[in-house]
Amino acid sequence: MSVYLLSTANFAGLMALVAISFGVASRTISRPLLQKIALGVILGFGAAAASLQPFMFVNGLQIDPRNLFVGCAGAFVGPLAGIISFAMAALTRYYEGEPSAAVCILSLFVATCAGLAWRHFTRNRERTDERLLLVLGGAISLSYVCTFLLPSTYWAMVFSSAVPFLVLTNLIGSSLLGGFLERERRRAKRWRRLQTQALLDPLTGLSNRRAFEEAYAIAVGAGDSSGTAFILIDLDHFKLVNDTYGHAIGDSVLVAVARNVSDSVRERDLVARFGGEEFAVCLPNSTREQAAVIAQRIRRSISDVQKTKAVSGLSIAASVGVCWSEAALELEAAFDRADRALYQAKINGRDQVVFSEHIEPSSTSSGPSRAPRITGQTANS
Ligand code: GH3
Ligand code: MG
Ligand code: MG
Repeated sequence: MSVYLLSTANFAGLMALVAISFGVASRTISRPLLQKIALGVILGFGAAAASLQPFMFVNGLQIDPRNLFVGCAGAFVGPLAGIISFAMAALTRYYEGEPSAAVCILSLFVATCAGLAWRHFTRNRERTDERLLLVLGGAISLSYVCTFLLPSTYWAMVFSSAVPFLVLTNLIGSSLLGGFLERERRRAKRWRRLQTQALLDPLTGLSNRRAFEEAYAIAVGAGDSSGTAFILIDLDHFKLVNDTYGHAIGDSVLVAVARNVSDSVRERDLVARFGGEEFAVCLPNSTREQAAVIAQRIRRSISDVQKTKAVSGLSIAASVGVCWSEAALELEAAFDRADRALYQAKINGRDQVVFSEHIEPSSTSSGPSRAPRITGQTANS
């Protein structure tokens, strides 16, 4: 009796250790692939450690709750973690040697598959309640049908003493350990959603300025040979769209502009809404000629928005300022130069692209006073 109590206490301690490590890893490791590997290793460790603390021996056959851990890996983390934890548990079992290592490994495999099947059938549920956790415990327990592959002399003993105990352990374990892992999974999901929200513009779904700044630093840090372009886009007379059609139509124009701009650039380019009716694009590893072609394509794609039914009759256009440099600039410097070019495009009559070369600081600007005069180069359309 005291041996059972000790085993149960060990098992509870092991579940707590696995649960705490699982929580720490899922909070601290942000890269999805690394996180899955780490969680698979933690649950694989749980399975291996469980086999070092067997509940009992039946005719020399070791009885322990390792199947619970591999089942939970498949159920709460997914196929990769399931495979990792299965491999760790199977290797441990292999090195423990006979009797019946092959049957025990097959039983581990069935438990992994049961966890994955449970994951598959519960994937659309917002919450996993106690009943579903018990179903998981039951599914993992199906792995004990492998007992029938043992010599028939084992059957009576295993099914009368070991299997009821293991099934009970799986039901309680899936409820306790599974409940904790499920809470962690929900928390991680919520965290990812918040992170996404913090980096995306809610109206257009584009990156926001903060996300763009981070991505720009990475793109520029990568260093490239051809040059980098930073493009600033501001819709022309957008206030008029709102005043004429209302804010809701104005919003739908912004969404259409975001879509068209995104469609006009290449896979590796960065697009963001900087706020209001201003958008920014970064073209890493691009020649000046490529930047000119893409900037014009962007401008034309924005004009195309006026072809949509909702705003027919009103002209939608944008002024575009481009800062291209051979050596990538800090974002602040690139923004400053592109903003001056954009300002020049507005002064020149809007609906055009201006490059920010040959900036000549001047105090006698002919237009509004927010930037010095630029001898901008209007790109060919
Ligand atoms: P300009 O050609 O000089 O850029 O003129 P403009 O009218 O585009 O510029 P202005 O800065 O005067 O007005 C910008 C307008 O953009 C005013 C504001 O109502 C509108 N705007 C900013 N953010 C949003 C938004 O999220 N939705 C809608 N519908 N309108 C927005
Ligand atoms: Mg503006
Ligand atoms: Mg504007």
